[in-house]
Amino acid sequence: MTVVNATSIEQALSALAANPQARLIQGGTDLMVEVNFNRTKVENVVSLRRVAELRRWHLDDETSMLRIGSGVPYAEMERAPLRDYVPALAEAARTVGSPQIRAAGSLGGNLGTCSPAGDGLPVLSALDAVVHLRSSAAARDVSVHDFMVGVKRNARQPHELIVAVSVPIVQGFQGYAKVGTRNAMVISAASACLVHDARAGTVRIALGAVAPTVVRARATEAWLATQTSLVGNPKVSDTLAREFGQRAAAECSPIDDHRSTADYRRHAISVLAQRLLLRAAYESTATTKRGPQ
Ligand SMILES: Cc1cc2nc3c(=O)[nH]c(=O)nc-3n(C[C@H](O)[C@H](O)[C@H](O)COP(=O)(O)OP(=O)(O)OC[C@H]3O[C@@H](n4cnc5c(N)ncnc54)[C@H](O)[C@@H]3O)c2cc1C
Repeated sequence: MTVVNATSIEQALSALAANPQARLIQGGTDLMVEVNFNRTKVENVVSLRRVAELRRWHLDDETSMLRIGSGVPYAEMERAPLRDYVPALAEAARTVGSPQIRAAGSLGGNLGTCSPAGDGLPVLSALDAVVHLRSSAAARDVSVHDFMVGVKRNARQPHELIVAVSVPIVQGFQGYAKVGTRNAMVISAASACLVHDARAGTVRIALGAVAPTVVRARATEAWLATQTSLVGNPKVSDTLAREFGQRAAAECSPIDDHRSTADYRRHAISVLAQRLLLRAAYESTATTKRGPQ
């Protein structure tokens, strides 16, 4: 086995160009499990751990876009200042594995594996994130919706590196919730991220672990837009929230597997979506009462 310990993006890219079949490793919290269980055979590795640039993030004040390096660990997303810019990502990061996993695991790895149960992915979907890819010859940006193409399949070409993802800073409530077979250290059986863009007056919801890839429940979003505005609106009734949850559940196509049944997953989504909408309505009402911050 050969291992290239890259110290720059350029070094990693030239190692990939020389050997596009080489496996990239960031935190190793997915890849090493595959190796240890003999599910994948790895001949050549390009390690990204020493590439400092991949572990940086940057807020562009002019565009209000936050660019998060693919190697930034979850432990950093949980804390301020990143936590304050993207609260839903912090909520999702807090649910990933144990502190050890969160110290090593990254969004680049979550996107690289592209499991429908990856906790970072519904957040990226609800925020309409952009994935930045680079090869030694070119750079391209792909919408996260086009990037996730199936169960553990993504649009990355073998010679490409995920260098970062960009998400907009959104004014308004955003939250993430998941259920699994226990309260902690658990892969999602169902998950949901809801983002209320108060300026645009829209609500977006993405669902995890209930289809081959993360689902943006666009029909549910469109239905909600005809029903109510969340901005300062205390009238989001339990009935409306329940219907919102049921509609979101209807957009899933879950399976029975060792983590859950399809029926339970649908039920879980209806409850998670309903609760997130009620939280959003409550937050938006509270913010309106407090006035602008
Ligand atoms: C005990 C345990 C608990 C876990 N709990 C959770 C959980 O609760 N929620 C959850 O979502 N996940 C969980 N995971 C899975 C894992 O931690 C996450 O998916 C994490 O985001 C992977 O990141 P990583 O940096 O470790 O990826 P790695 O293992 O380094 O890489 C994963 C894949 O992505 C590719 N890759 C990595 N970086 C790049 C890059 N820059 N460009 C292109 N491809 C790249 C690799 O080649 C590999 O195919 C858990 C894992 C373990 C072992």
